[in-house]
Amino acid sequence: MNQLTLSASLSLPDGSRRLSQSSPSPHTYLDKRVTKSQTNRRRTRSQGARERLNTKEHLARLAVGLREVELADKLQRCHSRLSVLTCGRHIARIIPNFTCEFRLCPDCSRRRSRRLQSKYLPAMSAFLLHRRVTAVHLVLTQTHQKENRKQSAKRIKDSFTRLQRRGFWQKHFKGGTWSLEFTKDKNGLHHTHLHIIGFRRKFFDIELLRGEWLAATGDSHVLNLKPIEDIATGLREVVKYVSKPLDIRRFGAEDLKEFLGLKNMRMFGTFGEFRDFCKGFVPSDNDGDEVTDLESLNRDLVEGCACPKCNEPLFDLRMSGKELPQFYEQTESSPPRKVGTSWN
Ligand SMILES: [Zn+2]
Ligand SMILES: [Zn+2]
Repeated sequence: MNQLTLSASLSLPDGSRRLSQSSPSPHTYLDKRVTKSQTNRRRTRSQGARERLNTKEHLARLAVGLREVELADKLQRCHSRLSVLTCGRHIARIIPNFTCEFRLCPDCSRRRSRRLQSKYLPAMSAFLLHRRVTAVHLVLTQTHQKENRKQSAKRIKDSFTRLQRRGFWQKHFKGGTWSLEFTKDKNGLHHTHLHIIGFRRKFFDIELLRGEWLAATGDSHVLNLKPIEDIATGLREVVKYVSKPLDIRRFGAEDLKEFLGLKNMRMFGTFGEFRDFCKGFVPSDNDGDEVTDLESLNRDLVEGCACPKCNEPLFDLRMSGKELPQFYEQTESSPPRKVGTSWN
């Protein structure tokens, strides 16, 4: 029994039965991934900030190795100086001196993911409200083949286009969003998924959808579908995959080189009726109700404003990007109103 099979079986109450029924790698891999994303293991903010810093240093080193001097320089400058608006216990807003906008930069992809959330969440909430649909998170996957990242992405996107042209799909879905996720399997083959937020018109037998996906891909019926209870959480879950390979810390120079070749590839998009809906959508006050806890809400905050979490006044703290994880640690452990002074 390999490790993936073991983890998948342990995470299911009926583990042993599932284990004996399932075929080897693709199923168990997907089960594990989906299970993992649903348990939503949360890192602390300081751990997240530290990981982002390490990932960036790793990427910058790879860039230097590839003689991508300009990229290395941009990565090093990105978020290197910060203006942090804080009450001492909470961080309301972080304004970086510079953003590199490189797709794999963890700080910039986090900002991009927030932008996507502020852009699409109001439209999604309104779509759910005005159309008779429910939202589902659908993960589509394909067989692993010897191909590069670009070919792998094209293959799954083409399959998805074929799926959308089929009568079954049109009968049951009213569009949604898609995003690409890249990982590699243990043999180094690309494992590319599509994460879809689909707006479902009515229920159907999942086996029928598997058959449809098999018809569209020619060789894969592996997918997973879960209802989305809260659209804000569902969207956050999906956009975090946008151009953010989970194996980035294990990226080698070759991987980075390959990624640089993908410059113009789209990683996120809308489709079907939802796409048309977005084009003409203007958020009304009601539709925006569900948008909370997004950085966009804090955009207007300045020094002296009340902290959105505790109402204490905010002040502006300047620090280097390297100091941020430690500052998060301090806010995580500091008692109310006590503000560290070592950061000035
Ligand atoms: Zn960046
Ligand atoms: Zn506060």
